[in-house]
Amino acid sequence: MKAVLDHVGIAVKDLSAALAFYRDALGLEIEAPEDVASQRVRAHFIPVGESSLELLEATAPDSPIAAFVGKRGPRLHHITLRVDDIIAALAQLKSRGARLIDEQPRAGAAGSLVAFIHPSAAHGVLVELKQHAVPSAKHRAPGIEPSAPSTEHSAVAIGQPAPVRRYSLGDLELISLCDGFFHLDGGAMFGVVPKPLWAPKAPPDDRNRITLAMRPLIVRGARTMIIDAGVGDKENAKFAEIYGLDRGRHLDHTLADAGIAPEDIEIVLASHLHFDHAGGFTMRGADGKVRPRFPRAQYVVRRGEWDDATHPNERNRASYFADNYVPLADAGVLQLVDEDQTIMPGVRVRRTGGHTMHHQMVIIESGGKAAAFVADLIPTAAHVPDPWIMGYDLYPLDTLAAKKTFVGEAIAREMLIFFEHDPAIAAGYISQEDGKRRLIPA
Ligand SMILES: [Zn+2]
Ligand SMILES: [Zn+2]
Repeated sequence: MKAVLDHVGIAVKDLSAALAFYRDALGLEIEAPEDVASQRVRAHFIPVGESSLELLEATAPDSPIAAFVGKRGPRLHHITLRVDDIIAALAQLKSRGARLIDEQPRAGAAGSLVAFIHPSAAHGVLVELKQHAVPSAKHRAPGIEPSAPSTEHSAVAIGQPAPVRRYSLGDLELISLCDGFFHLDGGAMFGVVPKPLWAPKAPPDDRNRITLAMRPLIVRGARTMIIDAGVGDKENAKFAEIYGLDRGRHLDHTLADAGIAPEDIEIVLASHLHFDHAGGFTMRGADGKVRPRFPRAQYVVRRGEWDDATHPNERNRASYFADNYVPLADAGVLQLVDEDQTIMPGVRVRRTGGHTMHHQMVIIESGGKAAAFVADLIPTAAHVPDPWIMGYDLYPLDTLAAKKTFVGEAIAREMLIFFEHDPAIAAGYISQEDGKRRLIPA
């Protein structure tokens, strides 16, 4: 394997003191800082020849870098080696028995792929491997260092401010958007899976919460559709605090980045009506009245989900806020569907149950290719293994059955899978070799 030193990450406690050394005493030039809002980290790159130093500064007390510095003091944090073929590099390390934090690469900044090697394999140094999106690119692509690893020895799957990602599928264009990030209890997110197994894949903060994205999907074909719409902006500061909402960049921004106006949306399709999926269906106007967020759209909701959401019980009440969907019925833009069916050419809904009784996924097909928006059936790439099922699911054995059926189909058909809540991987493919599943970020 050929590797080039890309950069050296240094966790700092007092930035001005660090600058007094690196900038003033050493006389080095510092690039404009870049924020990784979801990790409360600011990265200051200092070019040194073909490589860089990266000063990592916490921007909030609950930043992983603050935890690292608090525990171990300001010090060397990681080194990053750039390789041409990260998958081959990981395979080679694995064949030699090297302990990895990431068995598969995940998405980094500017389309790069990154993976962390465990410090125990690298003689006490946290090593990040990185592959450029374009292997011939000579220098580090400008942009945020996406993978400032978190606590002691574990890398965090960082929710970098997600760029808009476009995919083509036959005649359809798929655009992955982002409504920002939120935080949920890590234990609840992984159900019966013990923390020592999930924590390396989704490092918790000091309140045991993990970072989740909200990634609605645009489908452009015969019509323009959005599937789910994130949490929206109707909730108050207390709600934002409880869920650690980070909407520094949200759906309005990413829609604009994609060149789409709210008026362009003709169909809004709901996987289900939990607030992190349906909050963005409506907005509060200047008059205080809540109305549909997409003024020209018809909103498609499964009837059983509608009935459950409008008659919540003690177990699911915290997830269903009437303001997110009742105004759609009042405005006459609600269409209830009773069964699996085609919503527009190439786009079908399929009930999965499990998470809620009438939770549905979306199968997208065109030109002999297939993709799936799986919503809370497989919320993140870490939830691909069969028993990794959320504690939130009302009917976990139904989730298990639906997931097994779907994953088999996804492998056989090489389906592109969209992970609505993954903080780093918007979409990927599942492959299986010798009975072992791998996730390949798209
Ligand atoms: Zn849900
Ligand atoms: Zn969800």
